[in-house]
Amino acid sequence: MESKDEVKSNTEKTIFDAIAQGDLTEFKNILAQHKGGVDFFDENGMTALQHAAYKGNKDMVQLLLDRGADVNSGKHEYNYTALHFGALSGSSEVCKLLLDAGAKPTATNSVGRTASQMAAFVGNHHTVATINNFIPRSEIAYYSVPQGQQTEPYLLPILVDPLHKFVLGVNIHPVRLGLNLQHTPSLLENADAVSKVLEMLCKREMTRGSETNEVMAFKYHYLSYIVREINNIRDKQKPSSEKEDKKHDIVEVFSKKLLKPGKDGVSLDLMDTFLKDCVREFPFRECTTFHQMVSSLTSKNPPSALSVINCTINGQRGFVDAIPYCSTCGEEKPAKKCSKCKSVQYCDRECQRLHWFVHKKACNRECSTPNSASNAKVAIDTNELSSELQNLVAG
Ligand SMILES: [Zn+2]
Ligand SMILES: [Zn+2]
Repeated sequence: MESKDEVKSNTEKTIFDAIAQGDLTEFKNILAQHKGGVDFFDENGMTALQHAAYKGNKDMVQLLLDRGADVNSGKHEYNYTALHFGALSGSSEVCKLLLDAGAKPTATNSVGRTASQMAAFVGNHHTVATINNFIPRSEIAYYSVPQGQQTEPYLLPILVDPLHKFVLGVNIHPVRLGLNLQHTPSLLENADAVSKVLEMLCKREMTRGSETNEVMAFKYHYLSYIVREINNIRDKQKPSSEKEDKKHDIVEVFSKKLLKPGKDGVSLDLMDTFLKDCVREFPFRECTTFHQMVSSLTSKNPPSALSVINCTINGQRGFVDAIPYCSTCGEEKPAKKCSKCKSVQYCDRECQRLHWFVHKKACNRECSTPNSASNAKVAIDTNELSSELQNLVAG
């Protein structure tokens, strides 16, 4: 009969093989047969969780965490944590799972680098943003419990998870945030409370002394500002008798305001003004983050307010031009293209629909070849738009 130690070392060997090969079935079999802890170490002091994180395998990471794997464990010779490995893998989902399980984003390796710094070093910008934007759920849950003399909390407990998800989002384009709100009716219905809680989170973040995270404080302020604006649009629509019908148009009203091109037909002047006002309203004007934003907004040839805010919240990017964006909401690597001109990209039909009032002219121009120019239409009517939406093709 095999001794206990032999069984254990066999399990260890096979589980590391299964992770290396990405064999999920075998991996599950091994875990099913193994009772007890899953903090296996390889000969270099790396845990199974660290290996799975390095492979960017979110299923394996989740299974190990479910079985109680210690997210901050490890005896790696250069002090890498599971989060460092997840960051290097470039899987934002893996990093999110590790952070949810309590991984410490401030842990440094033997050369003093955090996981997010390692991700930046290898160019995994989305992962950098995911780690830097992370806040524990408890930060928000705090407001769902009555404080002091309160009989009712600031935030309904059912809103904790949706608000947490909303705050963690990496894409801070206002139209994307509007869409995210619209897809989460509970947040939209409680927009007033949500926006107030976000301002309170902002203040709380700024009063943590040495632990203060100015960037996160600004993000809370920014989200609150967007939620408030959308709530204002909603309030204006309320007196209408067809409340239910109009509900769907809030983001349309909002995005028409923001995506309308300025006189040159390209720059988004209205969006810029709207976002500059947001920066101006940030209540903590002494902090470095505010000063940096103002100095880039007032520099010669200033970048757009959206890109200043994006750089502040998500960190400077190495190279931006190579990545395609959704023309409506700024989402990276959108799945679809306008089927007619194939020169703009969108996440889905919803994004295309919201952008059509801007794109229709350019789309016609792109498509009018010398042959068809004589009978080119001036504008595309509604029927044409709906067939256009039907034809949205995979990018
Ligand atoms: Zn989009
Ligand atoms: Zn087009």
